[in-house]
Amino acid sequence: MKQKYSFEMITMRNTIDYFKKSTWWGVLEQVVATLRAVCFVMSLWAMQEVFDRVYRFTQTQISILEFTGYLLLLCVILIINQLLNGYGQYLMSQVSYSNMGKLMGDFQRKLGRIDPVHFEREEFLDQIERAKDCLEYEELGHLASITLQFVSYYTILLLLVGFYLFQFSPLIPIIIVLSFIPLVLGYLLHYRQARKLEEETYSLRRQNRYYVESLVGPQFFKETRLLGGFGYFYNHFFSTLYSVVRREERASLKMMWIKLGLNLFSYLGFGFVLYLLFIELTQGKVSIGAFSSTFILLSQFFSLVDELVSEHISGIGDSLSQVVNFYQLMDFPERGGNMGEIDFSKGLVAEQVSFSYGESSQLILKELNLDLQKGESIALVGENGSGKTTLIRLLLGLYTPTSGQVWIGDLETQTTHQRSLFRRTSGVFQQFQRYKLSLLDNICISDWSKDVEESVIDRLLEMVGGHLKSIDKNMLLAPEFGGINLSGGQWQRLAIARGLYREHDFIIMDEPTAAIDPKEEYRLYQMFEQMVAEKTSILVSHRLGSVRLASRIVVLDQGKIVEIGSHEELLAKKGKYFTLWRSQSKWYD
Ligand code: ADP
Repeated sequence: MKQKYSFEMITMRNTIDYFKKSTWWGVLEQVVATLRAVCFVMSLWAMQEVFDRVYRFTQTQISILEFTGYLLLLCVILIINQLLNGYGQYLMSQVSYSNMGKLMGDFQRKLGRIDPVHFEREEFLDQIERAKDCLEYEELGHLASITLQFVSYYTILLLLVGFYLFQFSPLIPIIIVLSFIPLVLGYLLHYRQARKLEEETYSLRRQNRYYVESLVGPQFFKETRLLGGFGYFYNHFFSTLYSVVRREERASLKMMWIKLGLNLFSYLGFGFVLYLLFIELTQGKVSIGAFSSTFILLSQFFSLVDELVSEHISGIGDSLSQVVNFYQLMDFPERGGNMGEIDFSKGLVAEQVSFSYGESSQLILKELNLDLQKGESIALVGENGSGKTTLIRLLLGLYTPTSGQVWIGDLETQTTHQRSLFRRTSGVFQQFQRYKLSLLDNICISDWSKDVEESVIDRLLEMVGGHLKSIDKNMLLAPEFGGINLSGGQWQRLAIARGLYREHDFIIMDEPTAAIDPKEEYRLYQMFEQMVAEKTSILVSHRLGSVRLASRIVVLDQGKIVEIGSHEELLAKKGKYFTLWRSQSKWYD
């Protein structure tokens, strides 16, 4: 259930978070902004004094010295104003860069605390993308800077200018404030509008990105071209793009009219204030100097307001809706749990475990029971889609059961913190990482905590085979960085070496061997069994020959354990295992 965020709440939270991260640079930025506002009003006052003295100087009522003095004062104030502007810009980018890095860090740490099962859901991946967009386009900083400027610059400026103008007529500041009201209303409207547009088009934009990827992405384009899918993807790319652009066009047209109305209202206020001043001038209540400087002030002031609306406020709606995406992710429930030391001598137990990938999805595993003793090695077999990988993820504690319990040693996975669960477990997965690092680092990355022992690594490389041992260990495995690439089978062997290198009491091997022929897979599984002889381990395969020597073979079918036993026992049963074995035995003759 998504939390609702009001714009006041999100603005306040974002501004406070951002300001707290900015340290004293942020404080300095706001002090400079306030000084700029003060300087602006002082320049106004100095201008009025200079204008008045021009007139009196021509009437020879004052000396050239006095006139020059005021002129110099005005120049100094204007120069200081410029310097403050420049310094303010510098501070803003300084704060923005350093905060961006800190927020990125928070974001990554947050992702690390979220239950991995959510990463299986498209909707959640969408949410991550959106939050990432917000960081990459610096919306968080943008919104917070504007809000802070509202307080430290625009509000102070408004108050000072209001105070200055109050002396001519109390009506003038009131009119100026009134011309701000529609701006605030427009601000609210734009926020709602942008949020709606964002929600409506996000899925379309994601689809569009996918079509672009299918057309030109390095992983897809060969197949797309070869199998003639280009036209198909191009049509989908075009129609999704067209839908998004149409909606955005309609929304921005609407906003353009609103902005036009707002500007008109502001300029009406400007005209009215001038009219009032003109009356005061004709009645001799204000001097020519005051009238001229106020005229300049108002034109500058209204262009400032114009800038505020067109550059800042109109963008605020978009920024806010992006910032909401960020906070939605930051507020996403985390997987907590107690810290503890797993006692692996107690084995592993799955009790009445059922699992589904989402609230409304079907059950993938159904009331399943399984136990493993310390040091036992079992094989998990079954057809594709029978639930082997899902069960493995539950037994590792990566996912927690929808109902039932999984115990690793004496700790239950639902109530134990992931850091405790994964401390001494290892695994080799179907979709393993191909790190763009050296061969050595590609292995050591699974356990940085221990000192690198080349002899251990050499032994591992020898055991996994595939001529990996003849490659320089410091060779980068990334052709794009001047290194080399490995074949699919070599990468899989490397992944096995990586899994074995990590210190562990419990390890799984979830068929990372699709690119290796059945006989070689069998050899690797044998080698794996020997390497982990003292450890608790699970071998997963849909190729039965590879795991036939396991003391216990667990057969999974449609999310249920249908048979358990040794190869001979299961063949004698003439059940599911027997049928599968018969269809595959030709591979191992
Ligand atoms: P196996 O490893 O035996 O091939 P899996 O555990 O990968 O089987 O998948 C079991 C079932 O779970 C399949 O029907 C598959 O469609 C479904 N499944 C796997 N991953 C997801 C997911 N992220 N969301 C929804 N269903 C999934």
